[in-house]
Formats: sequence, structure tokens, C-alpha cells
Amino acid sequence: MVDVPAPEPAAGEVLVCVRAVAICASDIEIYENGCASGGIYPPEPMSQGHEFSGEIVALGECADAPAVGTRVAVEPSWHCGRCNMCREGLCNLCRNIVFPSYPPRDGAMAEYIACPDYSVAALPDNVSDIEGALTEPLGVGVHAVRLAQLSGNEKVAVLGAGMVGISTMLAAQVQGVDAFYVAEPIPERREFARQMGARVVGESHQDLIDAGIEPRVVFECSGDNAAFAQSLALVRPNGHVIVVGIPEPPEICFDCGRARRNQISITFSRRSLNTLETAVELVASGQVGLGAIPVRTFSLDEAPEAFALAAQGPGPELRLIVIP
Ligand SMILES: [Zn+2]
Ligand SMILES: [Zn+2]
Repeated sequence: MVDVPAPEPAAGEVLVCVRAVAICASDIEIYENGCASGGIYPPEPMSQGHEFSGEIVALGECADAPAVGTRVAVEPSWHCGRCNMCREGLCNLCRNIVFPSYPPRDGAMAEYIACPDYSVAALPDNVSDIEGALTEPLGVGVHAVRLAQLSGNEKVAVLGAGMVGISTMLAAQVQGVDAFYVAEPIPERREFARQMGARVVGESHQDLIDAGIEPRVVFECSGDNAAFAQSLALVRPNGHVIVVGIPEPPEICFDCGRARRNQISITFSRRSLNTLETAVELVASGQVGLGAIPVRTFSLDEAPEAFALAAQGPGPELRLIVIP
């Protein structure tokens, strides 16, 4: 914990007073290893946190944003708008991307953070600060579901019922899917997945394979490479595996022969793409009940405790949240 001057919003930026910021597994990776995915080391100590909500307290020059005093959620994938990926509309693949909490950019585990004006979305009164912070992982689920092009009446498996797995399931429910098959080792998380509508819940992907379910789409949200490899045995022929979890280690060994014979499509999902407004709208309209997500809150002074707890591995809560 250090005292630093509050950032000044540059032209086109807004200054956000952070009201809730969740700890994501990717934050814990840097916290534990000192190194982010992709082998990037921060040049100096830096703050984490990219799932957050807050209140606009100042506008930089020419900022095109809601008024000071507006509560907002933030899409933390800040793109240049000029590179070829941005021009193709694939801003999540921007070649000059800036992501708060990814080295070297400080994250939102702070009282204030400056954000680009285009990255904020106003929160209606019926969306809480914590729900606002959780619209970020919900957006990750919305993006993964868009990649899957679900038709509604089909079987979908979700491997890993953490925040991203549950977000993906909730986003798929909005598309009309109700046949969910979930694998999750932590009993409380399995129970929560059941409450949220999962039809069959196993401890591991093997349970779903043994049950002979053959979903058309498998969302790999656990980051467990064995789960990814076995998703090729789980998915039905001509099926689609979407990898949402961050593989660790990044090299995965899997049976290409089976994938080829069964003509399996494999798509890796990258963060989210223009999903913030959709996520906020899904929560505000009651289509997605983020308020039910089990969380535990900590004050800013308790943030070190929250990180230490999160580093022990996943527990019953889907997110530990710091309230600065
Ligand atoms: Zn995250
Ligand atoms: Zn770009």
C-alpha cells in the first residue's frame, strides 16, 4: 500500500473514483509470479485490478463522457483505433492495446484511475457498484457466447464454474440455451451453478464424458489444460470448443487426430469486444442476475488480505472485491 498522487485525466479521458474492484485470476498470476501471461514482467511495482466500477469525478479536455457524478462501469481494453485490427473492428486484438493491470499500466486497485472516455458506460440506479464491476467478466462471457453462435436449442458444456464460467453460462441463457452441463471441482461452486440453471453438474470434465452428453459447444473456462484436452473427447462431432480460460502453462498437448476426425472447431476467445453496454443492459433489465454472484468484500486497507486469500486458490466465492 502506497500513497501516490491522484492521476490527472488527459485529453479524452475521465477520472474515475473507484467504488468496487474485483480480483481476477490474472491479477493473482502477476501477484504470485511477478509476471503476466505472455511472460511480461512489470518494470516496477504496479497495481492490479481491471474489473471495476466507480464514479466520474473529473473530465479531461474534450472528453465525450457522462457528466461528473455519474456512476460507471469500465471496459478495460483500451485500443488505439488506428491499427489494422482496430480498423477491422477487432479492437480486442489492437496492436497497441493498453490494459490496466497488465504491465506496465497500473490497474484500478486504487482510489482513482484515469480511463478513456469511450471505455465507460453509465450504470442505472438499479445496478450496484459490485454488479458494475462484475459487468467486465460478464462481458468476457458475452464475447465468448457471440463467438459460439448458439442457436438456442442445443446442449452446451461449461468447464469451470468460476466467475467467467458462470458469466458465460448466464450470457448463453440469454440466447435461449437451457441445457447446460457444468464441470467444477469446488462443491459450493457446483451448487451455485445448479442454482443458476445447470442441468447436470460434475466434478470434472470426465464426469460429463462418462455421462455421454455430447454437447455441440464446450466453453473451456477453467484454464486447466487437461480440461481443454479432454473437451475434444466431450464435444460432439462437428462441435465447437471455445477456449475462454487462460491456459497455464500456455503450451497444451491434445489429440489432433481426434479433433481432425471429428472436424472440431477450436476458437480462442480474447477478453471482450464492445460488450460493456450489452452487459450493463443485461443486468439493468434483470435478464442476468449478477446480484446473486457469491462475493466477499474487503476495504482498501484489507486489500493485502484479499490478495493473500485469492492467492490460496479458488474458494466458494466467485470474486473477492475491494471497496476503496
Ligand atoms: Zn479479469
Ligand atoms: Zn489498434
